[in-house]
Amino acid sequence: MDAGRSAADIEEVLARLERGEVSFSKLEEVLGNANLAVLTRRRFLERKLGVSLSGIASTIIDFEELYGYNIENAIGAVQIPVGVVGPLKVNGDYAKGEFYVPLATTEGALVASVNRGAKAVTASGGAYVKVLKDGMTRAPLIWTPSVIEASKFVEWVKANMEVLKSKVSEVTRHGSLQDVQPFIVGNLVWLRFIYRTGDAMGMNMATLASDRICSYIEEHYEGDARCISLSGNMCTDKKPAFINRLLGRGKYVVSEAVIPRSVAESVLKARTDLIHYINQAKNLLGSSVAGSVSFNAHYANVIAAVFIATGQDVAQVVESSMGFTWTELRGEDLYISVTLPSLEVGTIGGGTRLRTQREALSIIGVAGGGDPPGVNALKLAEIVAATVLAGELNLLAALASGHLAKAHEKLGRGRARQARLER
Ligand code: NAP
Repeated sequence: MDAGRSAADIEEVLARLERGEVSFSKLEEVLGNANLAVLTRRRFLERKLGVSLSGIASTIIDFEELYGYNIENAIGAVQIPVGVVGPLKVNGDYAKGEFYVPLATTEGALVASVNRGAKAVTASGGAYVKVLKDGMTRAPLIWTPSVIEASKFVEWVKANMEVLKSKVSEVTRHGSLQDVQPFIVGNLVWLRFIYRTGDAMGMNMATLASDRICSYIEEHYEGDARCISLSGNMCTDKKPAFINRLLGRGKYVVSEAVIPRSVAESVLKARTDLIHYINQAKNLLGSSVAGSVSFNAHYANVIAAVFIATGQDVAQVVESSMGFTWTELRGEDLYISVTLPSLEVGTIGGGTRLRTQREALSIIGVAGGGDPPGVNALKLAEIVAATVLAGELNLLAALASGHLAKAHEKLGRGRARQARLER
């Protein structure tokens, strides 16, 4: 399509949009090009609302690549600045060495805070990390007429796991069914299926696989069991839930370090006994009094920033940032660990397809599929957990030394910039 014809086409389509003869969602089909569709929607809004969207228009994204995968009714892109923390030393099973981690945020002081934590962790020999469980879940809801039928059905599912596994392999190469956790309430059954999903976070994969299983059940189970909802909320996706916290979802990861008193005092400007006390009083008692499902200071800050930078599903910050910070005094030194039972990350699929997000993953060294499949996502999970540890350590130290408000005033209210201008 040449430029002249494109302009004429756009004007004609804009007129049809105005008359209500065509909808936003049909523009890719009508214009035959996703980038033209994006431009047309934007122009329509600019004229109708009398606003300028020149900033949203400024993007390197090729919407032809995203169409059918990542976005509908696209009008452009918003930009989030990306900072980097590191080097952060990680001693994991998959991540070994020093890493730089990209954080996308608009919260002044966040990157500086995590960076200081990373410096302290690295100076202490690094973060030790273990992924204890790996499995994405989807829990279809099955109706049966009675608890008698429900329990008979669950026994049938358990006895037929091998055939259900073979059904999953018909719809995905990298996804595999690992296990099922059945739950019965009254006459209803939830089948919480657990899948390995290679380097993908796995939510589409688990959903397609569960759909295939439900079809098989409805065709082959001889009793009365009907899949009434492919998701029954026991999965649990994008909601805070005890089930994920206890049984895990995605990667169940623990990261720990021992911070010598000398490092706490020189890098963090804080006493180890005070950091420990603040953790007990704030993260454990305070969270308990508040009725929180999460016992940490700010996992969500780090999780959200890494998720945005690396193309994860940002709504999954909800369950990915649940977890427990635990500290002990070891003589004068501080043991600190973070436990993330439901960290949902991938290095392929979803938002990791976008160029800037892929570049951010390449900073960590995990862009795309791993060899063997799965190792990149596991490595990413270890590095994210180590970064969360750094963030948690620094915030507790800032609280223990009374530096939190000062840091935010300096880096979140423009004081650092003002000081530079005055120099
Ligand atoms: P996906 O992009 O839908 O699937 C991953 C794709 O990559 C599959 O086609 C897989 O092929 C392929 N692949 C190639 N190499 C791979 C490797 N090394 N490891 C794993 N897969 C590999 O990604 P997804 O993680 O399943 O789903 C993520 C998307 O789901 C996100 O966009 C998220 O926002 C969205 N989401 C969906 C739901 C839902 O209910 N459907 C819920 C929440 C989020 P094979 O399958 O043949 O292996």
